[in-house]
Amino acid sequence: MSAASEFSFKVGTRLEGRHGRSGVISTPHGDIATPAFIPVGTKATVKAVLPETMKELGSQALLANAYHLYLQPGPDIVDEGGGLAQFMNWHGPTFTDSGGFQVMSLGVGFKKVLAMEAVGVRSDDVIAKGKERLAHVDDDGVTFRSHLDGSKHRFTPEVSMGIQHQLGADVMFAFDELTTLMNTRGYQEESLERTRRWAQRCLDEHERLTAARTHRPYQALFGVIQGAQYEDLRRKACQDLEALRGCGGSEFDGYGIGGALEKHNLGTIVGWCCDELPEHKPRHMLGISEPEDVFVAVENGADTFDCVNPSRVARNAAIYVDEGRFNINTSRFKRDFTPIDDTCDCYTCKHYTRAYLHHLFKAKEMLAATLCTIHNERFTVRLVDRIRESIDGGYFDDYKRDFMGGWKGRIKAPAN
Ligand SMILES: [Zn+2]
Repeated sequence: MSAASEFSFKVGTRLEGRHGRSGVISTPHGDIATPAFIPVGTKATVKAVLPETMKELGSQALLANAYHLYLQPGPDIVDEGGGLAQFMNWHGPTFTDSGGFQVMSLGVGFKKVLAMEAVGVRSDDVIAKGKERLAHVDDDGVTFRSHLDGSKHRFTPEVSMGIQHQLGADVMFAFDELTTLMNTRGYQEESLERTRRWAQRCLDEHERLTAARTHRPYQALFGVIQGAQYEDLRRKACQDLEALRGCGGSEFDGYGIGGALEKHNLGTIVGWCCDELPEHKPRHMLGISEPEDVFVAVENGADTFDCVNPSRVARNAAIYVDEGRFNINTSRFKRDFTPIDDTCDCYTCKHYTRAYLHHLFKAKEMLAATLCTIHNERFTVRLVDRIRESIDGGYFDDYKRDFMGGWKGRIKAPAN
């Protein structure tokens, strides 16, 4: 059996009176200094950018999606290609999510099929008119239709573990059920118990596959905390997952904080979870990258987080600078021959002007996406690097105050 010691976490400097800390996650493919932002390469590529460039811009690890890679090209092909890192020529640690989020969000149509505008409505079956629910959850797993060709598939905890072992990422996540804030309290309780039972099955299957695949480096498994906006459910989820043991006695190597939550209570929810979770294991926050969320998550105890946003919005001409996010597509940049941000050290800012990027977007050139993604990913990676340095240097609160003092969210253009 591969030694779990190939994966470890060491706490560095703690933030006084809070759960936030710096640290180092060690994986068979290298170390990750935390807190760290993990850029998303959904289909084993950060869209429009070379893996080599992601390394150059400071990305320490990448996260890919099990659901997408299961449908295309298939996990057996990634396995034959030497696992996710080797297959995509990424020389560093990788993460895969369990596929649960995509199965349920694309399948059920969360935000697309589900009528999300029905704020305040508590219903387990709020579906937009004329749409069909594409995923069905039962106690054993989820049956869903592919968003690519409509073909029918089924994920269970064992299937998700099988896929993730074949994909071969250093960090994997247990298969969980995604709920929305609109589900009733009763449904959330039911779902949480289902996720707990699935977590047990994931641990058991993970042990079995680890023993069967000794030719591969050890893959760590993180349990996923659900419980939506309910304090008692979040705390219970943490306690339950911490207590789980596989047949051979193994435990989760870390934890993912997932599920539905509103921006304003992000810090509170991460704080509840980190009150309960063991100090010596890493905590990953799924799906955040906005600077205000990053500060709050780190302060309350998140070590790593991922998000598609920096690259997704880059493809729509939205650019991050320290003052906020603006759109390079607007005509004011047509003759602006300055860099996006002259304090940024990214390849794009060193070599290209706002006018050129504006032109590329207007002309619908592919290079627009590449250059803007490089900048946005560098912006986010660098922000989190600075947060880590501020924790180690003992000036986190000053740095947070300075940065957030200048951050305005959506802006029309940077001041300079
Ligand atoms: Zn830049």
